[in-house]
Amino acid sequence: MPGPRYRIYYMPIECTLPAPVETRGRFAAVTIRFARYNGYLGRRTKASMVQLTDSFDRKMDYLRISVTDRCNFRCQYCMPEDIQFQDKSHILTLEEILIFAEACLQLGVTKVRVTGGEPLVRRGVVWLVEQLKKLGFHDLTMTTNGFLLKENLDGLVEAGLDRINISLDTLQPEKFAFITRRNHFEKVWDAIMAALETPLSPVKINAVAMRGVNDDEIADMAKLTFEYPMHVRFIELMPLNGDTDGSRFKSLFISGKEILERAQEELGDLTEIEPDDPAAPADEFKFEGAPGTFGVITPVSEPFCARCSRLRLTADGKIHPCLLTDLDVPVKDAIRSPDPIPAIHEILWHTARIKPPAGLTLPEESRNRTMSQIGG
Ligand code: SAM
Repeated sequence: MPGPRYRIYYMPIECTLPAPVETRGRFAAVTIRFARYNGYLGRRTKASMVQLTDSFDRKMDYLRISVTDRCNFRCQYCMPEDIQFQDKSHILTLEEILIFAEACLQLGVTKVRVTGGEPLVRRGVVWLVEQLKKLGFHDLTMTTNGFLLKENLDGLVEAGLDRINISLDTLQPEKFAFITRRNHFEKVWDAIMAALETPLSPVKINAVAMRGVNDDEIADMAKLTFEYPMHVRFIELMPLNGDTDGSRFKSLFISGKEILERAQEELGDLTEIEPDDPAAPADEFKFEGAPGTFGVITPVSEPFCARCSRLRLTADGKIHPCLLTDLDVPVKDAIRSPDPIPAIHEILWHTARIKPPAGLTLPEESRNRTMSQIGG
């Protein structure tokens, strides 16, 4: 016999859900406030009843959480050297982030990436990863610049992190210092080698492709896939650093297609790999005999908006439904309200309704917020 059914009214469509949802609403909010994330939440809410879906029938099941806008690097394509970070009083606490994640999980979000800024500069981030895992997300990942990774590897593995992406734009220490404005190549490389020895292997390496800066290293980066079980991916440069005139962007931009052609000219044919996840942004390939894979992510030349399943939470409590528009929806007040879960659900459904069919990728339309502020 199915249990009693409860009607919930805070969603745009009125719907009935099976009995476990009775613990939501006011009681759930109170328990969330006082449970202090001792593992109780995860057991209570693993099953998702309703799938958050946008107006174009795209399932929204992937949340990227920016835990801080701060970073210990100053990558040129990402932020200026003198960037003004948000006052800490504007930043969500880790507990508030968990309340938001819990609300997302209840609407069918199953994948979470912890990012930033640089996530590992946020105190308590390993604890956050552990709590997110306990909540019941299927796929829990992190994107990091690697600088603080080595000392956090054991903690992250124990906390239940499933996979890691490490940003590395060059294999040349001097160029690394030029791009990131920090002289830390060796420390990052050491962390990558250490990560390969953990259950987080194979690791993904993200390189932003820039003509005249690192395009001479396409083959060298691709060769890593012969030596190590790494997934090396070049990302097309996006006009996201507030550089609104767009001229610098145009001279630096290099397409994914050109990157693949140039890699093949030097290293032989690539064979395409079927993605495990159809919503994955990368086009992945393999060189014959290589343990790793080589790929490109092409948000500018071949945007993947039609299969976009993402929403982003910024560190200051705004939801970005699309990386390539400046549209954002404040959610901090809802998170801090006395009954946060229904209030967040209402905002999530509103966000889903207004998620645009596609973003704008022209340099003239460079976004106001940098990638570090939105959460890469
Ligand atoms: N600090 C972490 C890191 O370096 O990986 C995470 C945040 S970072 C903003 C996330 C990703 O965004 C990185 O892989 C970075 O290379 C990428 N990114 C930042 N600005 C970009 C841009 N203008 N175009 C393309 N990718 C960009």
